[in-house]
Amino acid sequence: MIDVDVWKGVVFILFGVLVLLAIALMGIAGFSGQRMHFPRPDIKTIKELVKRSIEKQIDLVDVADCPSPERTCAICLEELQGNEHVRQLPCQHCYHEECLVTWGASGYFGVSNTARLACPLCRKDHTIDVEV
Ligand SMILES: [Zn+2]
Ligand SMILES: [Zn+2]
Repeated sequence: MIDVDVWKGVVFILFGVLVLLAIALMGIAGFSGQRMHFPRPDIKTIKELVKRSIEKQIDLVDVADCPSPERTCAICLEELQGNEHVRQLPCQHCYHEECLVTWGASGYFGVSNTARLACPLCRKDHTIDVEV
């Protein structure tokens, strides 16, 4: 009778240790898995990278060169002013540089190092390369 109780105790403890180990392993696997499969920089870094790419790959234009009557930035809905940095997508539509950076950062795709800049006005798809 005593032996059976001892065994029950041993099995109980072993089971408990195994459960704890399993939880610890899942935690470690989850943590390293996240780091290995999603090497995504923080949003501030993404914005800086996208800004650099936009400066290189999207034309800086004068507001006068933007197609009227759409001289309003369709991202922030404010009128484009002559003294602002205005970028023109290949579809001719113009946006504030800052707005386009935020827009591009939300369309950043780390696996292929690209950012999607789908035009909010005409829905035309533009993709820029993002150098990391
Ligand atoms: Zn804007
Ligand atoms: Zn457009």
